Amino acid sequence: MVATTPTSAPPPAHQRAALPLAVRLALGVCALALALAGVLLLWLGPRTATAFERLGDDFLRQGSTAMRELAHDQSLQTHDLLVDVLRASAVDRERALAKLPVEALAGDAAALRAAIAADDARRSAHERQNVVALATARRTNVEAAIDARLRALDAAQAARTREFIADQRLGHLLLVAAMLVATLAALGGGLHRYVVAPAQRLRRAAQRVATGDLTPLAPPPPRDELGLLAHDFAAMTAQLRAAKADQERFADDLARQVAEKTAHLERALAELQASHAQLAQAERLAALGTLAGGVAHEFHNVIGGIRGCAADLAADESDAGRRETLAVILRAADRATAIVRELQRFARRSLDRRADCDLAGVLADALALCEPAARRQGVTVAREIAGGLVVHGDSDGLHQVFVNLFVNALQAMPDGGALRIAAARDGDDVVVRVADSGHGIAAAHLPHVFEPFFTTKRDAREPGQGGSGLGLAVSYGIVAAHRGRIEASSTPGAGATFVVRLPAAADA
Ligand code: ADP
Repeated sequence: MVATTPTSAPPPAHQRAALPLAVRLALGVCALALALAGVLLLWLGPRTATAFERLGDDFLRQGSTAMRELAHDQSLQTHDLLVDVLRASAVDRERALAKLPVEALAGDAAALRAAIAADDARRSAHERQNVVALATARRTNVEAAIDARLRALDAAQAARTREFIADQRLGHLLLVAAMLVATLAALGGGLHRYVVAPAQRLRRAAQRVATGDLTPLAPPPPRDELGLLAHDFAAMTAQLRAAKADQERFADDLARQVAEKTAHLERALAELQASHAQLAQAERLAALGTLAGGVAHEFHNVIGGIRGCAADLAADESDAGRRETLAVILRAADRATAIVRELQRFARRSLDRRADCDLAGVLADALALCEPAARRQGVTVAREIAGGLVVHGDSDGLHQVFVNLFVNALQAMPDGGALRIAAARDGDDVVVRVADSGHGIAAAHLPHVFEPFFTTKRDAREPGQGGSGLGLAVSYGIVAAHRGRIEASSTPGAGATFVVRLPAAADA
């Protein structure tokens, strides 16, 4: 399964060009406010002004009519009052004229009285005319004053109306501005708190999820649609997290299984390669053993014949020089016999003697032979040998195997080192491990060390110190005769290790 990490793609061009929601809402509110201001200033303002002017005119007209009627009534009352005063004055004068003692005067009293009455009547009529004219003039003056006052009032009212309209326009403007500011502030605050901030939180959360960060979110209580959306988003993130955890567990499990299977396969391959190499080496050594056994058998007879003849000749020989030559031949024949015997031990896959032998005792005996040399060379010997290691076999042969291994190890550490010997039970086998810290075995030599006559010690500077190349071959033959295995491993320059694996005795 391939895990894909979502990446946040940039929004399409048409989405990037669009204005943010808050700006669009603010522009909408401004447009509404402008429309309201237009309605207030261009429609409501003039209508209000016209209504005010009409109302003022109506008030003035009604006031003017009332004042005219009042002035008319006042002038009539004044006129009537003056007429009454004049009439009362005329009656008083008539009464005074009647009481006047004109008879005492010479002449015609009646004519005098009539003349005085006529004169008085004429005066009264004149006064009445004057009063009427005066009242009429007075009324005309009052009406003119009223008209002038009303015109002034009309002008003042028009000015006040204009002033009021201007005040009202300013008030409307201020009201619209205040409304706009308040609406924008409320809308902006509400928008930010309930829409923009949650949307931004949601966006940040979505971006985190897009980068693969699925840490849990704590959404606010779901009070509105955005809150519900945030809750749904948190639930979706939790599901994603669970799915991712499942996927990771699955991947880990898969990786572990693959690693286990790979390790298992590698182990199996290594074991297969090792057993293939062992098999190949065993086959090669078996073929070599057959060949060596055949050659040894033939040589054994030939050498036996040579030795017998040489011994016969030496017994009859009186010449000292020739006896010495025959003695050399006999020693060479003995050496050859010994080599042939070794070859036969390598070739033989069976044991002459069999008995239960305690491997710890065999190892102790072999070590006792080598310890003086180890001390001389400054080699420390460490042993870790478990008790009760019993094998059914030839203790002399096994003794020879371990002496060979110890001697080789000491020869690999001429300037000192460490020799470790460990023996323990491993299942049905007894395993002896001999490890040294010597010069080790070259990789090219390792497959050949158990072959007869393979040796790297021929070039030793001191003649006679070279190896025969038969020690490990003989050891291999002895171990094989015990149905065991012997293996060599080495890190060149750091030492070599030989492992001998023998079947434990059946009742051990
Ligand atoms: P020889 O000792 O006579 O040479 P062996 O059969 O005992 O014959 O050993 C064969 C060869 O294996 C040796 O010549 C040597 O090169 C190598 N060899 C054996 N044991 C060791 C060891 N412990 N360290 C290094 N090389 C070793």
